[in-house]
Amino acid sequence: MQIIKKDKQFIANTYSRFPVVLTKGKGSLVYDDKGKEYIDLSSGIAVNTFGYCDDSWLAAVINQASLLQHTSNLYYSIPCVELAEMLCQKTGMEKVFFSNSGAEANECAIKTARKWAAGKKGSEYFNIITLDNSFHGRTITTLAATGQSVFHADFTPLTDGFLYSSPEDIVGLEKLLSEHKCAAIMMEIVQGEGGVVPLSAEYVSKAFDLAAKYDVLVIYDEVQTGNGRTGKLYSYMNYGIIPDIVTTAKGLAGGLPLGATLFGKKVANTLGIGSHGSTFGGNPVAAAGALSILKRLDDSLFAEVMRKSEYIKSEFKKSNGIESVTGLGLMLGIKTKKDVSDIINECIKKGVLVIKAKDKIRLLPALNIPDELLEKAIRILCEVCSSVSNNERDDMV
Ligand SMILES: *Cc1c(COP(=O)(O)O)cnc(C)c1O
Repeated sequence: MQIIKKDKQFIANTYSRFPVVLTKGKGSLVYDDKGKEYIDLSSGIAVNTFGYCDDSWLAAVINQASLLQHTSNLYYSIPCVELAEMLCQKTGMEKVFFSNSGAEANECAIKTARKWAAGKKGSEYFNIITLDNSFHGRTITTLAATGQSVFHADFTPLTDGFLYSSPEDIVGLEKLLSEHKCAAIMMEIVQGEGGVVPLSAEYVSKAFDLAAKYDVLVIYDEVQTGNGRTGKLYSYMNYGIIPDIVTTAKGLAGGLPLGATLFGKKVANTLGIGSHGSTFGGNPVAAAGALSILKRLDDSLFAEVMRKSEYIKSEFKKSNGIESVTGLGLMLGIKTKKDVSDIINECIKKGVLVIKAKDKIRLLPALNIPDELLEKAIRILCEVCSSVSNNERDDMV
């Protein structure tokens, strides 16, 4: 109680937190300050790729922290170089810029797209098209990129030069490209905060063709979908296309703050000396953690992710409280018959942590969640989905 009270007193009131004080965890289990155990299906919003305090991640992080915790970007450092090399080898991208968060990775992508377009076509080609219902971050520029006006209120004027197109509307997209001077199209392959809504393969491929026709870059925001979450290293790999810029963060370093902006051939040398920077970006401890994660993101792990994804979907098909499931791999959104907040609170009581995205329950378990924990958590979730409303009514009586 003290902690919750002091949080409300001393921490800016920007989050509506669940009434749980988490103190320690291991794998997919996490414990509160009273020792209650929870199975976590949220992974710190797709951050703890291999759960809490995974052994090899922990060893890598502790080792690096005991060697050198920070150097500044004025010197070379080994983990950061090894990580960039591995990211390029695994994606075919050519260069990487490291930052600390998803918003920063997107800021870097936006700056790069503008600089590329200014150099190639002229500085009036600054517009970037994003999609309605997208989420790209909380800075003034990434808010502008975010196609949801609820986030814009109170903070205008936002950065100029963003245009919004409706997902799946290829005609509307072409209209914007033909009527405005554009630098790039930016999108999430699965809109995460927007309700776990995947784009169709047809739309992605046509948007890709339009980008080539109008000579604009394609930026994929893989902050949430990246790092194995959708059953491929990056979600665009499910669609057989290669973007010009990929941004990622959340799961990259397995629980430490690290953002990365990956550059393909066209933009590999767009940013030059002095054009961008970050004091903490590419921090050696975060990079060492990321290396230990990335090494394990291979085909056998992706097969595991898909197997678990299919298992979850097949259980939901049998449940009468669930209307539909969207998403890819272990990034799933569930439309439930009952109110999502009631479901989340009831799950917390029963020892399962789930979160929401818009009006859906969102599942983002650790990629290596053991079968028995997954089965137990899904069983509890299905029970809650088909019964929560009655329980709530009983409580009120
Ligand atoms: C979470 C998220 C961001 C913002 O990342 P932060 O690390 O919170 O700045 C950007 N884009 C997408 C798709 C996200 O899911």
